[in-house]
Amino acid sequence: MIKLSKPNIPEIAITAMNDIIRSGQLVHGAECIQFEQELAQYLDVKHAYVVSNGTAALHLALLALDIGPGDSVLVPDFTYPATANVVAMVGATPVIVDVSADTYCLDITALEKAITTWQGPETLKAIMPVHEFGHPADMHAINQLARKHNLFVVEDAACALGAIDGSLKMGVASDIGCFSFHPRKTLTTGEGGLVVTNSDELADKLRRLRNHGMERTDAGMRFFYPGLNYRLTNFQAALGRIQLQQLNGWIQSRKMLAAFYLQKLAPLADAGKLRLPAAHPGHSWQTFMVVLSDKYNRDNLVVQLREAGVETSLGAQSLSTLAIYPNHWNDVHQFAAGANLYKQGLALPFCELYSKAELQQVVDALTKLL
Ligand SMILES: *Cc1c(COP(=O)(O)O)cnc(C)c1O
Repeated sequence: MIKLSKPNIPEIAITAMNDIIRSGQLVHGAECIQFEQELAQYLDVKHAYVVSNGTAALHLALLALDIGPGDSVLVPDFTYPATANVVAMVGATPVIVDVSADTYCLDITALEKAITTWQGPETLKAIMPVHEFGHPADMHAINQLARKHNLFVVEDAACALGAIDGSLKMGVASDIGCFSFHPRKTLTTGEGGLVVTNSDELADKLRRLRNHGMERTDAGMRFFYPGLNYRLTNFQAALGRIQLQQLNGWIQSRKMLAAFYLQKLAPLADAGKLRLPAAHPGHSWQTFMVVLSDKYNRDNLVVQLREAGVETSLGAQSLSTLAIYPNHWNDVHQFAAGANLYKQGLALPFCELYSKAELQQVVDALTKLL
């Protein structure tokens, strides 16, 4: 069976983790601080704090910006629900905006319309773009809209460590950026995440909120405000540090494999059987998802592909389809692109550990079935 993906944990990372476990220094400590310094350098950002997972990073971002009851946050329809869940968990309202059918990221026209036609009753406070599957969202346009309408921007870069748009690194092009180190992401510490900012003031809040609202001073522990425990462990940091050294090479391999898929699947696209993802040059390719034409039943195809030895799955959810959030427009056609990506999206096996020969097997199985 060619699995959807597999975590790439080098042996030396396991050795490094074992050394930390033997040292007895288990919770947040020197290893985490070094990982943070290396991540800050990698991303070219002033402050980087490792946290227990990507959802924790998003939660801290909203808390640090004082977003809560009476506020609303614009989120893309096509994403993992954590993006909107954290908005609801701070007591604010997620406002769902459709995505582009090609990039799978926020549709800028729909975003502008959602902002300019907003009638409340909540106060629009922030835009939370997602760099879906590693494709950079249009941060130039998003930041421009945010400045014009006085909104914060929090990037959900959970699957986009290493994604760039020109010279702009995803996750550091806004007020706060959030990353995940879940096993489905390119760099994994099991559970794990990262929150970054260039603002000294937000950095103080993020760092304290992560650790019970507390900071150690010469006089002992000082509690600034109520907080959480969203710390990462030292042995997870050891796993991540080794992977970070190899990340750029992995992303290069992913780009090469994505180009291979795009070339080999082009005949199916030309025949109108599926659509291929937009190939942005700064895409970090966490996931490779095609979109099947309406004449195919995606879930049936997943079963047939499994029988042919190929594991595939849906790509991400459509928040408007989930129906657990209030829909301020009450018009499902507003989310045509996102709903279709959810219904017809097919994530193919993809990981830097795969060979072209393995991907060719996927292409052959898919070609035969379609
Ligand atoms: C993976 C992911 C998350 C959640 O990250 P966890 O580390 O699993 O909490 C949030 N948003 C997006 C877009 C993701 O892909």
